[in-house]
Amino acid sequence: MSNSENCIFCKIVKGEIPASVIFEDDQCMAFMDIFPVSKGHCLLIPKEHYVNMMDVDLDVLAHLSKKLAELTRKVHKVLRPDGILNSVANGKGAGQEVPHLHFHIIPRNVGDPFGFRFPPDYRESMAPREELDSLAEKFRSA
Ligand code: 5GP
Ligand code: ZN
Repeated sequence: MSNSENCIFCKIVKGEIPASVIFEDDQCMAFMDIFPVSKGHCLLIPKEHYVNMMDVDLDVLAHLSKKLAELTRKVHKVLRPDGILNSVANGKGAGQEVPHLHFHIIPRNVGDPFGFRFPPDYRESMAPREELDSLAEKFRSA
């Protein structure tokens, strides 16, 4: 369960613990990740405590999306990496450790040691069309 009382990102929003802030407005805040996986790794969060994409207010998310693009462009302008990964983990199974919605902005370069790891043989066979159609139908009507 999530609790804004002892949430580390809520504490950053309240100024109770330090952070290297990039920008903030009434709805969101961007700051440097304290354990960067690459130089320039930073985070964008809503100021209000939402756990992740499952509960975030959609208007707040629309604002965050715009700010995510702005921040990604700023990081690109300053560091000129080969690429930038934007990611968000929703839930423990997806690797979410801090239960306050956050977007990662991670500069990437060709050959860098960081990346998603897929099983080596995962492209040996495509998924059966029936299964893809069935899942697509479930998602369509959800
Ligand atoms: P997650 O694994 O939940 O997607 O990512 C959480 C991120 O928050 C990690 O990249 C981690 O380094 C970062 N992080 C955890 N605690 C702090 C902190 O106190 N300050 C900052 N700036 N980043 C933090
Ligand atoms: Zn929080």
